[in-house]
Amino acid sequence: MNNNLNWQQHAIKPIDRERLMRHKSLVIWLTGLSASGKSTISNFVEKQLYQKGIHSYLLDGDDIRQGLNKDLGFSEHDRTENIRRIAEVAHTIRQSGLVTIVSTISPYKSNRELARDIISEQYFHEVYVSCALEVCEQRDPKGLYHKARSGQIPQFTGVDQPYEPPTNPKLTLPTDKLNIEQASLTLVHYIVSKVKEDRT
Ligand code: ADP
Repeated sequence: MNNNLNWQQHAIKPIDRERLMRHKSLVIWLTGLSASGKSTISNFVEKQLYQKGIHSYLLDGDDIRQGLNKDLGFSEHDRTENIRRIAEVAHTIRQSGLVTIVSTISPYKSNRELARDIISEQYFHEVYVSCALEVCEQRDPKGLYHKARSGQIPQFTGVDQPYEPPTNPKLTLPTDKLNIEQASLTLVHYIVSKVKEDRT
């Protein structure tokens, strides 16, 4: 940490931006196995929010790994750094007044706790996109499980690395029981109830 750095005072505060947006801001942190449905649900939800005049932005873990985090791999150290950077970006976007949706496997509890600390408890909404591993493997929309099982992708979550489910998520979306629309609308309703509620 550099002791010669100071946090700048911003004339326009996050609360001012929320007023301008006419809704509150928060971070929806979607966690779940690959192919559990995080991207599908996020895209459906963003369209619904757009139609309702709620400003949002989707941070997709795969996209970030191709840009900001392209120097990182899948060791425990790199997975932690991956989440730390995503959380910092989500925090910044949230402060700009948007509903920020993060879609990333984020398999380790300790990493998600780090994200919660960066974003701050008040704004961090952990949403568990739950789906049995067998169902994810059957879906396999990108063929990743197939590649992982045949040894072409090492360190793949669910195959040779663990996934630690959240113990106390704000919301669980079981996509092996709900269809895409049901799961997504559950999340839309949750977001609307939170961004329209009085926080004072
Ligand atoms: P992730 O982002 O979690 O890796 P994706 O959204 O890319 O997952 O892939 C999920 C796949 O499962 C998609 O092909 C989607 O059409 C399919 N699917 C089937 N049922 C559901 C459901 N109830 N919710 C979300 N996705 C579902």
